[in-house]
Amino acid sequence: MGVLDTLGTDQVFYYFEEISKIPHGSGNEAALAEYLMNFARQHGLIARKDDANNVIIKKSASKGYESASAVILQGHLDMVCEKNADTIHDFTKDAIPLQIDGDFITAKGTTLGGDDGIAVAYMMALLAHPTLEHPALECVFTTDEETGMEGVRALDTSDLTGKYLLNLDSEEEGKFLISSSGGRRLKVSLAANRMPKPEQETGFLLRISGLLGGHSGSDIDLGRASANKLMGRLLYALSSANLPFSLVSVDGGMFDNAICREANAVLTIQPSDAEKAEQLLHQLQKTMYAEYRHAETDILITWEPLREEITNVFTTETKENIISLLLLLPYGVESMSLAIPNLVECSSNLGIVSTKADEIIFENAVRSAVDSRKEALCAKIERIAQLCHAKTESFGDYPGWINKENSALLALLQATYQDVTQKEPMSTAIHAGVECSLFAVKMPDLDMISLGPDLFDVHTPQERLSISSTIRVWEVLKETLRRMKPHQV
Ligand SMILES: [Zn+2]
Repeated sequence: MGVLDTLGTDQVFYYFEEISKIPHGSGNEAALAEYLMNFARQHGLIARKDDANNVIIKKSASKGYESASAVILQGHLDMVCEKNADTIHDFTKDAIPLQIDGDFITAKGTTLGGDDGIAVAYMMALLAHPTLEHPALECVFTTDEETGMEGVRALDTSDLTGKYLLNLDSEEEGKFLISSSGGRRLKVSLAANRMPKPEQETGFLLRISGLLGGHSGSDIDLGRASANKLMGRLLYALSSANLPFSLVSVDGGMFDNAICREANAVLTIQPSDAEKAEQLLHQLQKTMYAEYRHAETDILITWEPLREEITNVFTTETKENIISLLLLLPYGVESMSLAIPNLVECSSNLGIVSTKADEIIFENAVRSAVDSRKEALCAKIERIAQLCHAKTESFGDYPGWINKENSALLALLQATYQDVTQKEPMSTAIHAGVECSLFAVKMPDLDMISLGPDLFDVHTPQERLSISSTIRVWEVLKETLRRMKPHQV
């Protein structure tokens, strides 16, 4: 007996539980793709799988819908694998431990994979349903969305004929997504030149912690501090206070798409200056806390002597270049949209700083709804890097997307949503990427909307999927397809 067996609603929850038994973190989708190919065979459906493990399954139109144009439904197979520190779970072998908590499906101590397993479950339930009325369906299951949309990049769309695409990767019911931002990642690397440590200087660890962090797209307008940027200010303050020091390493952050919560620097200083440095840092902690009191709950700056022997430090030139890069590389909102209220148009995040054997790396994630602004911001980063004698590599570029005006699909979804739920729908844009932007490049005439049920705290072990919302969106999906009779669209 499955955990979700009591939740009827055709087979949506049944398939959601089935796929949660098959590990499917990003890069590990082969087994789930094979499971879908078997599912298609068992249901007599045409299917194909490509080298990237993307799967396309087609179902022909029900009676009376033969002349309607096909509808593409799309979601991604992969999930983010995060767990609590005290949870024992192997994401390459173990089933996601589902549980029901009030109106929510959650997992015990791990991410749920509702993002985007619910899309997979919806599509399977549509494909398996014996009596639904609908146009021809083209269900597209993509891979590696979470790590850079690699699946959809590799997807050959030449056998897709649909004029409409429903992307099922949104996380707020009743908000139909019509636009997303583009992005690019930029890796700035500075050669690490070292010299022997000046005599008498001793080592200290300078640490910034206690910051809230967050998603570099959806949380970038909250005004939170970046530990990497604060580190730049602390190091600059020490050098301008005439407290000469040498720098050994600087490190902060783990993901370029997360706001940096913690940063560390190892430095050496004359023992006679150590106390003055500590006082200055203490003062700066108060100043920064006051400055960020509306955005952060805590800013901790600690300074402690290091016992281990330090032999080499960065040359003065390398140190100065590091401080300049930390101060100059952009972080936060660059511009707000004047077209859509409250939408961040363009932003940048200095997510990771890391010291390697022969270089220091600064990893940046740029997002923009307007591609030309993205180019301008990337040019700025490149020039800052050049002025600081560092080099820049960029990768993972994807364009912004805005659906066509007067979208017939949006009008249909809004009317259907209102009729089915008695609630007022909205259309919206986000400051993050969705796979629609890469479909738009391959199939420029598509009319696309992204939608989905309420999901909370995705990409964290607190991820939860609303059961009632999942049911409402399922009813909206079925009714939308039913209304696509040839004379109605
Ligand atoms: Zn997703």
